[in-house]
Amino acid sequence: LAKQNFRGTTVVFSAEHEAEINEQGRIQQALRAADLEAEMSLVFQPQVDADTGRVSGYEALARWESPLVGAVPPGAFIRAAERSGLIGRLTEVLMRKALAAAHAWPDDVRLSINLSTRDIVSNRTVDGLLDIIAESGVDPARLDIEVTETAVMRNFELARENLMRFKARGIGIALDDFGTGHSSLNYVHKLPLTKIKIDRSFIVDIATNELSRSIVRTIVDLSRNVGCVCVVEGMETHEQVLALRRLGCRMMQGYYFARPQTLEETLSRHSLPADATKAARKTG
Ligand code: C2E
Ligand code: MG
Ligand code: MG
Ligand code: MG
Repeated sequence: LAKQNFRGTTVVFSAEHEAEINEQGRIQQALRAADLEAEMSLVFQPQVDADTGRVSGYEALARWESPLVGAVPPGAFIRAAERSGLIGRLTEVLMRKALAAAHAWPDDVRLSINLSTRDIVSNRTVDGLLDIIAESGVDPARLDIEVTETAVMRNFELARENLMRFKARGIGIALDDFGTGHSSLNYVHKLPLTKIKIDRSFIVDIATNELSRSIVRTIVDLSRNVGCVCVVEGMETHEQVLALRRLGCRMMQGYYFARPQTLEETLSRHSLPADATKAARKTG
């Protein structure tokens, strides 16, 4: 399923490469000194049912504004947290913040939280997260955890066991960035999945690329066959929405519907009817 990318086949040691390594070092240093509770925050991106325009839930996305190095993109600080052994603690901090948001929303609004590769193979982190969820009083049936295909494939048995522990509490399991990793299809049946998220890279050229279209069609069929909800990420245009609906996709996420929002923004939206279709028509 993976789109081939041959850029990775040559390694070039350039000044740029060295600068990147230094940058990671600086980020790791700032992270070790950080007050995670105070400096980390979450924004929330709606997942929309394109049939009704209703917001079914939000994905929590981490943001870090460091007093030492400024704003750092999540890809970079998650990697830094994994490398410096801080990821478990960071995920726990983010989980608490996310659950507080879920508390503030109506009971029928779902919450999706990303776990890192390291989290899902750490029994201790999973113990901690399950405790935090239990103590929060938020109904676990409202929650989804998102793990990437790559994360699961790295240590399949251990990842599977830990996913089962979330599933046993009634928490949904979403496979994130689906189609970008290197994996065979038969393992999908062995995981306790409830959602499959089609990666944005297949959406970008959906109108012009027959290969992307047939990959999306395959993933939609696969989701149906294994009883999963299919969610498509990275919807930016009206054309993409139409194309994806023709391909049988109903749950959508992307800038077309809404950018990630602060908790306050999500709350002001919920005081109105949460009609993302209407909002989208205004901008599209
Ligand atoms: P992801 O989980 O696949 O999240 C989707 C990313 O796509 C988010 O980027 C989101 O802002 C962005 N996005 C959403 N709609 C659109 C669109 O229409 N167009 C474009 N171009 N982008 C869109 P973000 O927030 O920068 O996060 C990047 C990645 O960092 C996430 O990918 C996830 O892998 C990781 N991440 C973010 N927050 C967390 C977290 O709390 N924990 C962990 N472990 N990873 C996180
Ligand atoms: Mg995600
Ligand atoms: Mg994703
Ligand atoms: Mg992604």
